[in-house]
Amino acid sequence: MKIIGITGGIGSGKSTVADLLRKRGWIVYSSDEISKELMQTDVELKTAIVELLGAGVEKDGLLDTDAIAALVFGNSVQHRNRLHALNRLVHPRVLAKHMMNIERHRELGSPLIAIETALLFEVGLQHGFDYVIVVDAPKQVCIDRVVARSGATAADVEARMAEQMNQQDKKGLADFVIDNSSTLEALTKTVNSTAGIVEVMPERPPQSDDDDFESEFEDGYDEDDFEPEEDGENLKI
Ligand code: ATP
Repeated sequence: MKIIGITGGIGSGKSTVADLLRKRGWIVYSSDEISKELMQTDVELKTAIVELLGAGVEKDGLLDTDAIAALVFGNSVQHRNRLHALNRLVHPRVLAKHMMNIERHRELGSPLIAIETALLFEVGLQHGFDYVIVVDAPKQVCIDRVVARSGATAADVEARMAEQMNQQDKKGLADFVIDNSSTLEALTKTVNSTAGIVEVMPERPPQSDDDDFESEFEDGYDEDDFEPEEDGENLKI
């Protein structure tokens, strides 16, 4: 079974690409969707988040994602520390869920599954994928799209972007880059042609005995993965 990673910067179009691939018949799991679901259904996680960020992030028994975003996205060290602490709580659980899904599809004999995730290279997961697709669009286009989607200000979006790995570096590490600088029609064509190639590519031969998604997670997951890099790169949940 091939395991494909889909990543890219905020507003680049990862979720849109994931949806187009689902329409094509691919099985695609989204880290964002899983983390949102876990944050509401995993009682232990919910309690830990309230302990970390305060009772103000809970409303009517549910976590208030807007209140959480206001506390973790921003330019201060405090925001950054909260974001890293939140990542340390959420990400191991999301990855555990991905591993369960991978196992299930292996048993079912599925030929391919894909995982759409903002954090991929940042946590060293690239070696666990057969191929990694990076979705790319110019910075201003991404900002305009996110502003139009969410009503966030351009400054908010730029602050979030500053928390992510540089898009140029992501592209350098990609097996495939999907350009999303144009229309949805153009994106649909690019997604289908890229998917067609990925579907006929062979499984990537293991580089070592423990070179798979599960081992990458079990051996490589480290709290330090969520600390800022020395060159100033930061991470986003
Ligand atoms: P995030 O990192 O915030 O989760 P994302 O990378 O998943 O973002 P999407 O949510 O897929 O990005 O796209 C951002 C917004 O831009 C969405 O409202 C989407 O509908 C829109 N969008 C994506 N691609 C295009 C396009 N080619 N033309 C017009 N709008 C687009």
